[in-house]
Amino acid sequence: MGKIAENISSIKATLPSGVTLVAVSKFHPTEAILEAYNSGQRIFGESRVQELVAKHATLPQDIEWQMIGHLQTNKVRAIVPFISLIQSVDSARLSECINREAERVGRTIDILLEIRVAQEESKSGWEYPELLDFLHRGAVAEMKNLRVRGVMGMATNTDDEARIRADFEQLAQYKKELAPMFDASFDTLSMGMSDDYALAVECGSTMVRVGSSIFGVREY
Ligand SMILES: *Cc1c(COP(=O)(O)O)cnc(C)c1O
Repeated sequence: MGKIAENISSIKATLPSGVTLVAVSKFHPTEAILEAYNSGQRIFGESRVQELVAKHATLPQDIEWQMIGHLQTNKVRAIVPFISLIQSVDSARLSECINREAERVGRTIDILLEIRVAQEESKSGWEYPELLDFLHRGAVAEMKNLRVRGVMGMATNTDDEARIRADFEQLAQYKKELAPMFDASFDTLSMGMSDDYALAVECGSTMVRVGSSIFGVREY
């Protein structure tokens, strides 16, 4: 078994059965993705549209591609025909744009609502009160080509485990509060990355997004 396959297998061994592993392959070459694919991994996350579109075109067609990075509305059209989940929906404008593009190609797109809980101002995501305003306006119910599957977020970038835990608990709480506004398909709590996925799972994560612990350190 190659190193990447080994990493996937040991991470999977630690995950409870209801937790989905998203292999975050951004900045890693297609050969690395193929090694993961050949070991059985089918769900991959990318953060840049251009790279995502190029990889989708060359890699096996049964890969489920997810968008996990900040998405500009002028890039939505390029991924809507094939994307399986957009995790990083953080504005009304982006939601409307995805819905419109999805309708154009006759698809319904699964999305997550990215909520900011981290201390850093730089982190993306809805401010929770603004998200509530948006949902209370009832606009999402009108977006027939979107299916809201749940919530995504990132913890503060720190070594302080109590801080990270508090962020994850906050996200879990938001997901619980929002659930009554949706149907049973609102089932996903995407949180946890290489350094903190075990803690995220303890706090109720159903989807972890792991990059460097699978593929090694990225070269930016
Ligand atoms: C890059 C990235 C990850 C993976 O990070 P690692 O620390 O390499 O596991 C997870 N989620 C998002 C949103 C990312 O941008």
